[in-house]
Amino acid sequence: MPSMNAADPQWVTVLGATGSIGCSTLEVIALHPKRYRVFALTGHRQVDLLARQCVRFAPRQVVVADAAAAAQLRDLLAALGASSEIQVGYGREALERAVADPQVDSVMAAIVGAAGLEPTLAAARSGKRILLANKEALVMAGEVFLAACRSGAADVLPIDSEHNAVFQCLPQGRAGPGVRRIVLTASGGPFRDMALAQMASVTPEQACAHPNWSMGRKISVDSATMMNKGLELIEAHYLFGVPAAALEVLVHPQSIVHSLVEYDDGSMLAQLGNPDMRTPIAHALAYPERIASGVEPLSLACVGSLDFEEPDMVRFPCLRLAREALHAGAGAPCVLNAANEVAVAAFLANQIGFGGIAAVSAQVLDRCGTREAGQSVEAVLALDREARALAHQVAGELAR
Ligand code: NAD
Ligand code: MG
Repeated sequence: MPSMNAADPQWVTVLGATGSIGCSTLEVIALHPKRYRVFALTGHRQVDLLARQCVRFAPRQVVVADAAAAAQLRDLLAALGASSEIQVGYGREALERAVADPQVDSVMAAIVGAAGLEPTLAAARSGKRILLANKEALVMAGEVFLAACRSGAADVLPIDSEHNAVFQCLPQGRAGPGVRRIVLTASGGPFRDMALAQMASVTPEQACAHPNWSMGRKISVDSATMMNKGLELIEAHYLFGVPAAALEVLVHPQSIVHSLVEYDDGSMLAQLGNPDMRTPIAHALAYPERIASGVEPLSLACVGSLDFEEPDMVRFPCLRLAREALHAGAGAPCVLNAANEVAVAAFLANQIGFGGIAAVSAQVLDRCGTREAGQSVEAVLALDREARALAHQVAGELAR
């Protein structure tokens, strides 16, 4: 890992800068201009926001999806009077250059879905400090990703609020002897109390209206199905090296306790805070130091009471599917992740109903969940493609 002298600024590349996590990351960075400098920003096709971010943060590089988006961005930058030294690139190689440059210390991996895998792997191989928000990359390619981190001597700091909480409750972030269980909390999403019959006809807008967190649309739908918590079980398994039997989910509607670690002596440690991603982002950026994040201090007196309940596995079949994929191991998590991404996109496009997300995921897992896990990124991507093709077919049949 590059040396981080407290006096030198830390250079950060933000993958997915225009998303919910990316914007929160830039808000934290803006609070500490002496500590952090932006090396690169990436934003796929959201060129307007990206252009404004470039004016504010003056990155060395900025990366978009393709030549057309790059041309649009160059025009916008010129119109806004941004520095002419900002290099505008596009495509996969430009993304990889933006993370692997020797100047870069830390990479915020906040592209949504499987699209984030390759640049996150590039950060791993080049030994960066990886602030990992993109849980899908770890779910689809857990072993490959961890091997890349070992070979590059990269550090991974979890951004997902639950995993960041667990990291904070473990000595040096590692689950050693004496840890009995890791308990991930879940809000239960917008449909925790809805009559089951009504859940079949919910709209994308209802699914994206999370009661506690403001997030991108894909993860909002994952929270509503609780597939998000299922993916997080798999994420925790890889991040902390704990078996499925030692991982639990507890529904906690207030989203104040972000997760817990239970020890053999009966102690349970928890991390608490307001539900705001700037806290885990600031934690991971500054680790092992602590910096201001801009988040309001938590008033437990105002919160009043904290509730906990077991998850309802009938209401949330996606949570059960993710548990099955975790138990099955091998290629099953990759297959489940791919099927879910396709199904969520189909739901957001009004092609299938809410219940169709679990139905597509279950069928695809059933039909190709016993495949071998790829030991190389190419093998993982081939399995991901195969599962996606099948998911498109199943979703198409459901849509008819
Ligand atoms: P978002 O949809 O708000 O932003 C996604 C970002 O990825 C955007 O910058 C977009 O331009 C970029 N992007 C989309 N498709 C791309 C592609 N094909 N290639 C390159 N870039 C692409 O999503 P988000 O809510 O910020 O979530 C980002 C990641 O962080 C997800 O993996 C999510 O699971 C994880 N996460 C988010 C939250 C949260 O509070 N939002 C919490 C925990 C974990
Ligand atoms: Mg989470």
